[in-house]
Amino acid sequence: MIIEKLILKPLDNNTYFIINGNETIIVDPAEETTKIEDFLNNNKLVPKSIFITHYHFDHIGSLNYLKEKYKAKIYDYKSIGIFKEIGLKFKVIPTKGHTMDSVSFYFEKTNDLFAGDFIFYESIGRMDLEGGSEEEMNYSLKLLKTSFKKETKIYPGHGKSTTLEHELLYNPYI
Ligand SMILES: [Zn+2]
Repeated sequence: MIIEKLILKPLDNNTYFIINGNETIIVDPAEETTKIEDFLNNNKLVPKSIFITHYHFDHIGSLNYLKEKYKAKIYDYKSIGIFKEIGLKFKVIPTKGHTMDSVSFYFEKTNDLFAGDFIFYESIGRMDLEGGSEEEMNYSLKLLKTSFKKETKIYPGHGKSTTLEHELLYNPYI
């Protein structure tokens, strides 16, 4: 499993590619569809599924296009549970707080967590937008602290990647 990232418009969004062989899962396909297509073509990758951490407009700019073109399967807040795609097992976990439809995607074998706008490098997602909730955020943060190994690598929807260990030390909201 290889993880690659493009930083795309409109809000410096992280679009991730979880790659196994010539197949890939795309996490939060933002705008600039041409850059996504170029990445797929240059690396000869076929998208099999799309993960949506939440439906804010900046995370889904290329969703409809990719869904139509590749008939990719969508995983989102309606897909809570354990699944397998492109030979990789993962868990879809509700991590509400930023929005009510916020979920994180966890690959236990490699300890990788795709968190959307739940948690950022030394910060957390906004709770003042529609559907935001401090109570839900606290619940999600507690879950993160108690249920995951500190070595867990965190891939947020914006900004750089981090680890749970780093956030436990330096994130003022945890
Ligand atoms: Zn958002």
